[in-house]
Amino acid sequence: MVDNIRHVVCPYCGCLCDDILIELTDRKISGVENACTLGAHKFLDDAGNRLKGPIMRKGDQWIDVSYEEAIDYAVQILSEADRPLLYGWSGCVTETQAIGAHLAELIGGVVDSTTSVCHGPSILAIQEVGHPGCTLGQVKNRADTIIYWGSNPIEAHPRHLSRYTNYADAYFFHNAFRERKVIVVDVRKTATAEIATEYVQLEQGGDYHVLSALRTIIRGRADIIPDMVAGVPKSQLIRVADICKQAKFGALFFGVGVTMTGGKYKNIRNAIEFVDELNRHTKWTISPMRGHSNVYGSNEVFTWISGYPFAVDYSRGIAFYNPGETTAVDILARGEADAALIMASDPGAHFPRVCSEHLAKIPTILFDPYPSATTHLCTLQIPSAVNGIDAEGTAYRMDGIPIRTRKFLDNGYPTDTSLLEQIYSRIKELKGNA
Ligand code: SF4
Repeated sequence: MVDNIRHVVCPYCGCLCDDILIELTDRKISGVENACTLGAHKFLDDAGNRLKGPIMRKGDQWIDVSYEEAIDYAVQILSEADRPLLYGWSGCVTETQAIGAHLAELIGGVVDSTTSVCHGPSILAIQEVGHPGCTLGQVKNRADTIIYWGSNPIEAHPRHLSRYTNYADAYFFHNAFRERKVIVVDVRKTATAEIATEYVQLEQGGDYHVLSALRTIIRGRADIIPDMVAGVPKSQLIRVADICKQAKFGALFFGVGVTMTGGKYKNIRNAIEFVDELNRHTKWTISPMRGHSNVYGSNEVFTWISGYPFAVDYSRGIAFYNPGETTAVDILARGEADAALIMASDPGAHFPRVCSEHLAKIPTILFDPYPSATTHLCTLQIPSAVNGIDAEGTAYRMDGIPIRTRKFLDNGYPTDTSLLEQIYSRIKELKGNA
């Protein structure tokens, strides 16, 4: 029997496309429409890749354990740890993230999300100087000039261009591809740079210089700009500044190519001030290209609960936040954590080697439906239902719009929300009785 499920939300990247059509044949995903290659693989490869149940390391072997045994182990490890680290959260719905923040408070741990290795610097800059942002719907309907700076959406957020920018016809654009201008600023000629109206190739680490030069030109002081700035000719900088000033509505999107290069949050602060400068002449907005599906949600939820968006340390009994000290990479690199709970993320694939080595030395509990590089470091892996397939909840799109994901299958897996709720309740009971 074939069923078509409409308006499914793709849980892969921060675009959270909510127009996916899933074809189910005999209760199995047999077709996907509207998704990009990344999203389609997320749905089509799901069933074949999941762990069947929790697995625990015993010496050199993995053994199957029940969910009850897995929860017992997690309760014991987390309740006895002196410096537990609760990391990941970007693939979890906000309901799970909220339990995670409360759990960290209960056990005096540190709760940090993948933000600290992607757009953490963006948040620091926004805390300093604010953020003239807007929704992706505004961009789609109004923006005639787009800048992608240090981001390559064709490969990382493939439908960003077709839903919101270059190829998106909308209220004021009936032939978007011809009517919108796209400027790409990057150190290498990416796939997105290939389709740009103007490609600005700068030297590695030159973002701050180029942003400062553009601000200076827009202020009317092109005369003091040297002939070349970080590999970009002055004539091109003047042309780009002119395109930006001529825009009726411009939208600058920046990626980890800017946040994770030299200068980090100072680059983003300079980019925000560049947009401020443009707003003296016309209308511009600036937004981060958030990567993981609900990484934005983790910042919202942690802020509601603790006052801080990531890297929240409860070891003092109150929330404390100091990126560079309380961020997951720093805690692991110093060898401080004596237990780790990794939620729906893969630090084994992305963290520096010293951090992975430390994770492999301590009891590490991984919540992930699929085997990953972190599987090789953990002592226990618990597979749960997948958000957007057999679990539902709230996730925040990259522009801060909350979207309800849909559950359209029941594969018999418990949700990470229910599992974490059980762990939290058991530890609370233990602490209450202590
Ligand atoms: S752009 Fe992102 S959210 Fe949209 S279908 Fe592709 S992977 Fe999924």
